[in-house]
Amino acid sequence: MSNAPRTLITGGAGFLGSHLCERFLAQGHEVICMDNLITGSPDNIAPLMGRSGFHFIKHDVTNFIYVEGSLDYVLHFASPASPIDYLKLPIQTLKVGALGTHKALGLAKDKGARFLLASTSEVYGDPLVHPQPEDYWGNVNPVGMRGVYDEAKRFAEAITMAYHRYHDVDTCIVRIFNTYGERMRVDDGRALPTFMCQALRGEPLSVFGDGSQTRSFQYVSDLVEGIYRLLMSDLVEPVNIGNPDEITIKEFAEEVIRLTGSRSEIVYKPLPKDDPQVRQPDITKARAKLDWEPRVEREEGLRKTLAYFEERLRS
Ligand code: NAD
Repeated sequence: MSNAPRTLITGGAGFLGSHLCERFLAQGHEVICMDNLITGSPDNIAPLMGRSGFHFIKHDVTNFIYVEGSLDYVLHFASPASPIDYLKLPIQTLKVGALGTHKALGLAKDKGARFLLASTSEVYGDPLVHPQPEDYWGNVNPVGMRGVYDEAKRFAEAITMAYHRYHDVDTCIVRIFNTYGERMRVDDGRALPTFMCQALRGEPLSVFGDGSQTRSFQYVSDLVEGIYRLLMSDLVEPVNIGNPDEITIKEFAEEVIRLTGSRSEIVYKPLPKDDPQVRQPDITKARAKLDWEPRVEREEGLRKTLAYFEERLRS
């Protein structure tokens, strides 16, 4: 038996999960990637298949999870994540946030593993505090269309803390802000891949509302580093991991047009309901407790991601 740490990543065949599988393998972990492929793809983990220390198990984590042998870490990333996905899959989204988190916590308890929950800046809803620190409780509409995702994650945070307090499970919670990079789906409906693909195809860029709403985009390698540091720490309470570099959606569309050298124009579409007006992480805690901050400038991250989308659109 090897002494390598054993790490289970639910949602490991998704955009973020696949980057985490790669990182933990590089750190010398044995990685078990568990996914039912509802929004993920085998393509994301194809380069890892057959690598020593990597295992893939196709399983819906809303059902009992069985893993043979010991586990040191459980990272729970399984969940539809883009609005297009969770609006199409509302019940699955609620189930994986509730039942899936329950099953993943049960497994961590049984194995004595440290558990990390992938939460989201969406727990802040349409925030009344700006930027958003971890002790802000949020402004979420529970019965709105987006409630299925926001409330699933809020429940997931609550049950994680309950397992920590009542079962003594070693847990932590990362609140992830908008993240982009290679392996995002071309058609996942989020602003960044949509703009990039529209610009690359020479189509108009569709901006919702007047484009004055803001977002803060972080490149995937910064997120992965923050998650690794959080997992290796002894922090329990939620930690924001995001890039505070905030931009309006209109300025962002213009930036994508400039970087692609496209002749596309901007067209304005009606604002979806409950779309947050502002988003910017307060990362004071991550800076102080994890000595973490984002390293990749937006232009550098966008250039890398553009190269990826160019390749995808060609193939
Ligand atoms: P993704 O859709 O690419 O990945 C999610 C993965 O979970 C997919 O591979 C999907 O097949 C799998 N999955 C869903 N339900 C499952 C189930 N019941 N059983 C097993 N597997 C299941 O999305 P992503 O962007 O990589 O997001 C990953 C996680 O990070 C999610 O929990 C999401 O809420 C969180 N997050 C992402 C962002 C972001 O900007 N990408 C921001 C905040 C939070």
